Amino acid sequence: MSDCIFCKIANKEVPSEIVYEDDRVIAFKDINPVAPVHILIIPKQHISDMTAVTEAEAGLIGDIHLAAVKIAKEKGIDQTGFRLVNNCKEDGGQVVMHLHYHLIGGRKLGVKI
Ligand code: AMP
Ligand code: ZN
Repeated sequence: MSDCIFCKIANKEVPSEIVYEDDRVIAFKDINPVAPVHILIIPKQHISDMTAVTEAEAGLIGDIHLAAVKIAKEKGIDQTGFRLVNNCKEDGGQVVMHLHYHLIGGRKLGVKI
């Protein structure tokens, strides 16, 4: 997707503060953090949202989950806890239409983050 900001970040065409990367997944700091740790974890391939994940791609969700735990350990929040959030489509509050999970932590989170 040539006009997708997260594809551009995954392709290093747009700068970001990358905190984790493997062959399928990349994670970078959210530009507008809501907590001391706020990382976005995305598949490198363009998938618009959670509903577009095919059975063949389902392993990517596990990859993202494992990446989240690695990052949480590295950031020292795996013991205190964190939240892994996916906003799906308009009513879910999704603004960037490239599947992403927010890893949020580093402070006590309320019901509305
Ligand atoms: P969502 O509402 O779930 O689509 O969240 C999109 C998130 O992407 C927001 O938290 C933004 O702050 C973040 N964001 C948008 N553009 C960038 C960017 N270029 N680099 C890092 N984070 C971004
Ligand atoms: Zn994309």
